[in-house]
Amino acid sequence: MCFSKQVLGFVFLCSFFFSSALALAEKSVLILGGGVAGLSAAHELVERGYKVTIYESNTTPEGTDASGEHDFRFFPGFYRHITDTMKRIPYKDNKEGVFSNLIPVTKLHLEGANHPNLTIPIGFSITLDDFTVLVKLFLEEKNIHVSLNDLLYFSTKLYVLATSHEDRRRHEYEKISWWNFIDAGGRSEDYRKHLAIGLTKSLVTTKPQKISARTAGYTLLQLIYTSAGISDGVDRTLNGSANETWIHPWLAYLKEKGVSYITDSEVKKINVIERSVASVDVEVAGELKTLTADHYISAVPAKVMRTLLTPEMLKVAPYLDGIEKLETDEPLMINTVGSWYHRPHAVTKISNFYFAADYVQTNTDLATIESANEAARRAVNGILGKDKNSWPKAKIWEMHDPAIFDVAKAHDEARYVILQPHWLLQTTNVCDFLLKKSFSLKGFLKALR
Ligand SMILES: Cc1cc2nc3c(=O)[nH]c(=O)nc-3n(C[C@H](O)[C@H](O)[C@H](O)COP(=O)(O)OP(=O)(O)OC[C@H]3O[C@@H](n4cnc5c(N)ncnc54)[C@H](O)[C@@H]3O)c2cc1C
Repeated sequence: MCFSKQVLGFVFLCSFFFSSALALAEKSVLILGGGVAGLSAAHELVERGYKVTIYESNTTPEGTDASGEHDFRFFPGFYRHITDTMKRIPYKDNKEGVFSNLIPVTKLHLEGANHPNLTIPIGFSITLDDFTVLVKLFLEEKNIHVSLNDLLYFSTKLYVLATSHEDRRRHEYEKISWWNFIDAGGRSEDYRKHLAIGLTKSLVTTKPQKISARTAGYTLLQLIYTSAGISDGVDRTLNGSANETWIHPWLAYLKEKGVSYITDSEVKKINVIERSVASVDVEVAGELKTLTADHYISAVPAKVMRTLLTPEMLKVAPYLDGIEKLETDEPLMINTVGSWYHRPHAVTKISNFYFAADYVQTNTDLATIESANEAARRAVNGILGKDKNSWPKAKIWEMHDPAIFDVAKAHDEARYVILQPHWLLQTTNVCDFLLKKSFSLKGFLKALR
């Protein structure tokens, strides 16, 4: 009796696992767009047993990120998601796959500086010589000259950001431009040129008048934490062309794992019936095809996605009309003031439809290869959640927020709930007044010698 119960139990368990495995084996995902986000989603899915097909409109599998004309790629030290994926892309005898093709960046060209080839040393590897170069740059007026009060004012603003509570970050700093937050309009020409425009363009590659204070400020802080050694990581770039050292090995790996990457395939329409995607119309090599799958991930850019929105989609998920409000005329302009509220989550109200792209709401926030990869992980986790299978979720990292600021942040929270500004923003005008009486950085450093 007992034995037959055990046998029955065993048979039940076997059939349960067999049927779940069968159900999973049948699960298919169509990925629309084969850039970094599309490839990242495919990577996570294929390693979890999904049948993945990518449809890419280009005739070559190179997306925005590997286009030959912009081959330089910067991987700041705070990137965690894309670098984790890169470690899982085999490359020759590299122990850590294509990740080992990344080399440290030690110098950064400063936009807006008078000298065309002016670079500043950055990162962990700053030597004494580099430091001397940096000091000289500040001393020589023809290159960079920022007064001490400007420098302190800028640092105060960064400190305000670092010690602000999350709710203030999200609700106040998203609604103001970086330009206004750091009061670029009201300060010296040098301040505007070097700290507002030069630094922002060099590090965040976008216009300080348009980007939100939240995105620019917190990205800048992440870069500073890495450079100052407060958080791990080294700013890096690839040791060769992006295609050779990263994208092509990635595609080769994904194909070997079973991913189908179909080029010359333009997604024309996403057909939503009731609350889910029933099919997508794709023009494959000039021939219109209607394709179906269990799940669909949109990994096309925002400017394409907005043309694919249909009344049926908006009926189920009205908030997706936010995509139409995103600024997409210029690349890298997603993070304008207030854009966060218009950006979709990776998981949508359309039951089998997800977003994996750099404009999705992510911890990374700034539209980059890192946010594209993080969004892809979130989309994949959405699929895993829907399918209720036992595969581990893709890892998502928080941005670095040093514990040293916790007490100050708690203080700011107490002020935020009673609608008071950050305490330093109440007093910066006083600080500024006193600082105006101070001396230039040049004089200060000379006095020190
Ligand atoms: C000049 C430049 C330099 C940059 N440098 C850096 C850098 O150094 N570091 C960094 O982190 N980020 C950088 N970025 C940002 C980064 O490249 C992007 O954020 C990232 O590539 C976005 O990835 P994605 O997959 O979301 O979009 P994309 O890479 O744009 O991929 C979308 C894909 O969808 C395809 N597609 C479009 N329409 C359709 C359709 N109808 N059907 C099918 N497929 C379609 C496109 O061909 C494309 O391959 C840079 C961007 C630019 C423009």
